[in-house]
Amino acid sequence: MALIQRLISSDKYRLKCPYSMSPRGICIHNTANDATAANEISYMQTNSNSTSFHIAVDNNEAILGIPINRNAWHAGDGGSGEGNRYYIGVEICYSKSGGDKFTNSEKRAAKEVAALLKQYGWTITNIRRHQDFSGKYCPHRTLDLGWQRFLNMIQTELNNYNDTTELYRVRKTWEDATPQIGAFSVLENAKKCADENPEYGVFNSKGIKIYQLSNNIVVGSKVKVIGSNYSTGETIPNWVKQSIYTVSQITDNRVLLKEISSWVYLKDLVLA
Ligand SMILES: [Zn+2]
Repeated sequence: MALIQRLISSDKYRLKCPYSMSPRGICIHNTANDATAANEISYMQTNSNSTSFHIAVDNNEAILGIPINRNAWHAGDGGSGEGNRYYIGVEICYSKSGGDKFTNSEKRAAKEVAALLKQYGWTITNIRRHQDFSGKYCPHRTLDLGWQRFLNMIQTELNNYNDTTELYRVRKTWEDATPQIGAFSVLENAKKCADENPEYGVFNSKGIKIYQLSNNIVVGSKVKVIGSNYSTGETIPNWVKQSIYTVSQITDNRVLLKEISSWVYLKDLVLA
């Protein structure tokens, strides 16, 4: 399940997504017309009104048009409204005429929403209707067909996730999940995403940082220790953190420092 990234140019941030955002959940919409997801996204990105949303989904593809760590104006609850400032806006296409195209768009949306819930560690209680924020009857066709029915579709998708599937998350730190900018089942895609955002790293599902462009530590690198414990669990004394060391060996998540013959975690090192 690929969420295609077709992000808005940053000179439109002021109009379409002026605030950074730590998302709290997902707000569901129907487009109320019959355009494709690609057309919805390009129209939203190029018109001159502020209305915006993060993701459009049709029967063929799901496209991310606004970065998930920025707000979008989709919930109709004002400049400081919870929907507009903290919810990921998802538009389901083809709702005007309905039929198979809409049914399949909804199915695809259920998969994408389940993927987002999984990424953020959320449940279906993190999903809202546009109506919850502003009273507008949206997502109109999804509501006509049954809101609980749609939530059940998402729950089914969530249940289908194989927990052993590795998911590579792109975050600044493992502990703080909210500014996460992506999660990928293919490591190369996660690395590409991290390369575009050098302050972010790639973490595996155990929370171990396995890659960061600006922290590309290799054997021979000069490093400083920023963590609090050796990989053996013993506390790292402060004086150790004052010096610069040479990397002499790297396993998948641990590094041997030559001068003190000690193993530390890769995530606890920075280039000196
Ligand atoms: Zn709406």
